[in-house]
Amino acid sequence: MPRHKKDRIVKNPPLFNGFKPTGIEGKQLNNIFMSIDEYEAIRLADFLGLNHEEASIEMKISRSTFTRLIEMARKKLSQMLVKGKKLNIEGGNIHFKQNIIECNNCGHMFKIDIGSSFDVCPNCEAHDLFNVAGSFGHGRCCIVLD
Ligand SMILES: [Zn+2]
Ligand SMILES: [Zn+2]
Repeated sequence: MPRHKKDRIVKNPPLFNGFKPTGIEGKQLNNIFMSIDEYEAIRLADFLGLNHEEASIEMKISRSTFTRLIEMARKKLSQMLVKGKKLNIEGGNIHFKQNIIECNNCGHMFKIDIGSSFDVCPNCEAHDLFNVAGSFGHGRCCIVLD
């Protein structure tokens, strides 16, 4: 999949792909779906404290697009908190700048440039590694030419 102009840039993949209220079976809950670009908007503006201008530059989108994006993301977060919905993070027209690799043997996590090869944990030298960008369906598609 070639990179499209409208694709949004997300720094690295989320470490969690979902959240649910405690004490309730997942199948009894209503689902809500947050795209990875909506997640990134929350991370940049609310977690890191960037203003909309700064955050829109990070994601290579316009400021007005960023404002719509974060409003939608906050609406979804509020539905999760108030209505007890199960939040799933997936999809969106995005590509990552970096990948995160997690070692299934020792739990060590490390960042690598997207598209870089990896086959051994730098901490314990195990080969049983979890590709976080790959778990969201990304990897070589993300390699940016700019
Ligand atoms: Zn390891
Ligand atoms: Zn990609």
